[in-house]
Amino acid sequence: MKINTGAEYIESLRKLNPKIYYKGKRIEDVTKHPATSPHVRAAAMTYALSNQKKYRDLATAISHLTRRRISRFTHVHQNVEDLIKKIKLLRILGQKTGTCFQRCVGFDGINAVYSVVFEIDQKHGTDYFERFKKWLRYIQDENLMVVGAMTDPKGDRSKGPTDQDDPDQYLHVVDRRDDGIVIRGAKLHMTGAINSHEILVMPTTALDENAKDYAIVGAIPIDAPGVTLIFGRQASDDRRDKREYIDVGKSKFGVVGGEAVIAFDDVFIPKDRVFIDGETSFTGILVYRFAAHHRANYGACKTGLMDVLTGAVSYLAQIQGTAKRSHIKDKVTEMIHLCETLYSSSIACSVEGCQTPSGAYMVDTMLANVCKQNVTRFHFEVARLATDIAGGFIATMPSEYDLKSEEVGHIVRKYFSGVSEIPVEDRIKIGRLIEAMTGGTAMVESMHGAGSPQAQRIMIFREGKLDEKIKLAKALANIPNKKKKEKKSD
Ligand SMILES: Cc1cc2nc3c(=O)[nH]c(=O)nc-3n(C[C@H](O)[C@H](O)[C@H](O)COP(=O)(O)OP(=O)(O)OC[C@H]3O[C@@H](n4cnc5c(N)ncnc54)[C@H](O)[C@@H]3O)c2cc1C
Repeated sequence: MKINTGAEYIESLRKLNPKIYYKGKRIEDVTKHPATSPHVRAAAMTYALSNQKKYRDLATAISHLTRRRISRFTHVHQNVEDLIKKIKLLRILGQKTGTCFQRCVGFDGINAVYSVVFEIDQKHGTDYFERFKKWLRYIQDENLMVVGAMTDPKGDRSKGPTDQDDPDQYLHVVDRRDDGIVIRGAKLHMTGAINSHEILVMPTTALDENAKDYAIVGAIPIDAPGVTLIFGRQASDDRRDKREYIDVGKSKFGVVGGEAVIAFDDVFIPKDRVFIDGETSFTGILVYRFAAHHRANYGACKTGLMDVLTGAVSYLAQIQGTAKRSHIKDKVTEMIHLCETLYSSSIACSVEGCQTPSGAYMVDTMLANVCKQNVTRFHFEVARLATDIAGGFIATMPSEYDLKSEEVGHIVRKYFSGVSEIPVEDRIKIGRLIEAMTGGTAMVESMHGAGSPQAQRIMIFREGKLDEKIKLAKALANIPNKKKKEKKSD
């Protein structure tokens, strides 16, 4: 692995020259800018763990392509054990950063594309698999961070890609040359984009055969000509601009993954970096596999965050003198129960994983969808319970400036204190941490990341094997299975 440590990762970003805007101005160095540096540090943790003896087995793997040791975030799952190790790794990273550490979207994209392009080659005699493996070897050897770029802007949601008034609402090919393709459009909500090395673009939905120009998978360097990024606004981000350390809640790491718009203004992708071009019939399975891998993660990374939140409210209850009250203990118990329930489904969909024709392993898709569907509820319930236990001060307390003020600091200290043994600063810091982890931008990812709740419900219903369940019921109720009448043809 060329980039071996967190510090080397941060250094590697300084060598890139992506065009990134934030609040109307260009960001020159994402590793130093107050809005982006917390996200850089969270992603750096994925590099740092590889070097810690305790986590090396989870954070790294042996490449099936080169037999060299690589970051697990660039690995193609070779067995069920790999799937389980990924889940364990994500929970630990969630616990250590308290936020999204951004590298799994590209990781899941790599795994989905790997298995699907193998099957395309089998059917069409194309050479996508070899092209993809060549690029993947590069990613593994260099240990690069990859944006998993699936979500298109989508414009009018009642219309498909080819029916939009503006064709750029879905990323598409505008020119095909002998040496490659030229693409135009955008991807929204791109986690970790401003601090990644490469973008892996994928279609956002299953496409029909009229939408060949939209059936594109390819890899693009983050600073390729024509690529522009606009970093998203987050709740309370002005607090970071002014470098407030207590009031941001988590000064070291971000609130969410640090999402950006990526606009592609006629970006050229050379042929050896194009992995799907026009094979519309495989877009459904690609989105389906990517989504399942990604949905499995949420019962791991988000449970890491819930561990932090549960710890935060438990300490706050001690500070406020409520820790021994029965309803507080019951609410903390419920938070733990919901968290472990989510983790169980992440582990379960990994244990039930199976091999695809390429040799790569897939999670159980039904259980992965159930996992993510529960995240859209349980994480919110955990946040609700945390807010209940915390009290109203997390929304109303004065700022860090007032705490440190010579004129009014004594008032803040006096009236925001809890039990006398614990300093008032602890209560304020923990309160701000809970505010950052339950409010504003923090929770939206649990609802819409890896697909809105309805996307999981569609898959759950589709994979619910209702015919088999009906047979089970009929067998027990002694109802014979009649053969279906054949339709008469006119
Ligand atoms: C923090 C965060 C990080 C993310 N990171 C990434 C990333 O790294 N890579 C990536 O590719 N994506 C990423 N996403 C995108 C995520 O996958 C999408 O937000 C999700 O798929 C929903 O798409 P949308 O936001 O466009 O919402 P919409 O698709 O507009 O959904 C909004 C609502 O409308 C409903 N709806 C939409 N269309 C229809 C329709 N045709 N018929 C009926 N109902 C409809 C939905 O069910 C939902 O209730 C991220 C999202 C978030 C919030």
